[in-house]
Amino acid sequence: MLTDELTYVKGVGPRRAAFLKDHGIATCRDLLYHFPRRYLDRTTIKRVWDLRPDDAEVTIVGKLLAIGEVGSRRGRRRLEALLVDERGGRITLVWFNNYGWVQTHFRVGERLAAWGKVQRFRSGLSMPHPEMDKLDEAAPALSTGRITALYPGSALFRRLGLTSKTFRRILHNLIRTRGMEMPEEILPPWIIKRHALTNWRTSLRAMHFPRTTQELHRAIHRLKFEELFLLQLLLLDARRRRSRQVAADLTSNEDLVRGYIESLPFQLTNGQKRALQDIRRDTRSGFQMSRMLQGDVGSGKTVVAVTALLLAVDAGYQGALMAPTEVLAEQHYRTLESQLDPMKVRVTYLVGGQRKKERERILADIEGGLTNIVVGTHAIFQEKVRFRNLALAVIDEQHRFGVKQRAMLQRKGNHPHVLLMTATPIPRSLALTIYGDLDMSLIKELPAGRKPIKTRLFGEKRRPEMLRHMHREVASGRQAYIIYPQVEESENSDLKDAESGFKALKKAFGDFQVDLV
Ligand code: ADP
Ligand code: MG
Repeated sequence: MLTDELTYVKGVGPRRAAFLKDHGIATCRDLLYHFPRRYLDRTTIKRVWDLRPDDAEVTIVGKLLAIGEVGSRRGRRRLEALLVDERGGRITLVWFNNYGWVQTHFRVGERLAAWGKVQRFRSGLSMPHPEMDKLDEAAPALSTGRITALYPGSALFRRLGLTSKTFRRILHNLIRTRGMEMPEEILPPWIIKRHALTNWRTSLRAMHFPRTTQELHRAIHRLKFEELFLLQLLLLDARRRRSRQVAADLTSNEDLVRGYIESLPFQLTNGQKRALQDIRRDTRSGFQMSRMLQGDVGSGKTVVAVTALLLAVDAGYQGALMAPTEVLAEQHYRTLESQLDPMKVRVTYLVGGQRKKERERILADIEGGLTNIVVGTHAIFQEKVRFRNLALAVIDEQHRFGVKQRAMLQRKGNHPHVLLMTATPIPRSLALTIYGDLDMSLIKELPAGRKPIKTRLFGEKRRPEMLRHMHREVASGRQAYIIYPQVEESENSDLKDAESGFKALKKAFGDFQVDLV
């Protein structure tokens, strides 16, 4: 029953079924897992008369009396909407920016629910930037004393009549007529017992038709548990399969490794040493390594990566180092090239957009085995790049690459060992959740004598202060950089862009050289 298509479910029909399928809801099971985005609980709906300034998280239900933009053309414009509830209480909903969606979605005369914080406003009350839902039904439905589910959906859904009300009706039918065909439970009984979870069938019913808030919370808890539990199983399975994947044994006399470490003008930190021990153990086991190396910016992950790559070269294999951007890749390439060239280790640079001739030579050298280490961007993943004997792939700033790219790399050549590096601190529990298929090495300390890094948050109002500080640092001979969330100005977002920022900074820092990367 769970895998049945939706066409024949009462209330769906072929047209809606096709549409839902396009939106990832193909079977009865998918529909049962199409959860409400919110619930309206009669006991939590407030009357406007009862609201007070500074009430947080309140729900009101009413009719839209008026809506429109106010404010001068030059000053700050805002959108105001007047909502009136059953008892005639009025409240003003206000948006200061990004309110285009409100104007397109809501019309005067419509009934809706609004959630938010209450503030004093002129002589009355307002709710700034409320979350809103259209209510399709007439007033009494809400006062029947039940917790009512509101489903996610766009204007497109609504055009097909797939409103919250429709979803409720379809799901009600489905559960009533065929619910008993559903298994009561899908997880092993001892797990359910140990965690005192509500059974599966009851939980799904309660998600859509909760009898009490408590029942709803127990259902949510149960289904979140299930989601994480199944994810863990998948990751553990991936890990088990990998740990049985035969891969190159990198045991060797480690001549290059020793030479490199001796050439460094510093001692390795304990964290670096430990990480290298982990890597050495893994790559000598005969099975594929998948290890994540986590350490703060400046903790010296590159040295670990280079040493690991030399383990591969010492054993007669090739290595690859991948960075998410060309800037980073080039920086790595220069470091490796200058450090390894004296040791006769051949390092090459591979990114997209290199000239055809040059590229052909690079690819031939990699395939012929002339190249020992390839440094580059995701260009390294491409089908055309064939290695003679790739045994280790290092991925820097791993969070910028997706799971798919990781999988692609793992298939390159003869199952290379994989070392991922990240500076993003990941709490252990979360690491288990998203990287449960990986082993972890941690570098906790920074090299000795390093000044601690201070991180501060400045609000927009304090931008001038921040710029003055930057100016002072640059004036005393230091450098500074600013990172923007996007390259150029865009109609679809209010985010600051690098191009405008660059222009402004050039003006503000006229006496210094400012560049855009
Ligand atoms: P990250 O972990 O952020 O990638 P890097 O590998 O770029 O850090 O190292 C930052 C700097 O610290 C480099 O200049 C590197 O040469 C230096 N460094 C690395 N390890 C040590 C160490 N054990 N002692 C002193 N300096 C080190
Ligand atoms: Mg780094």
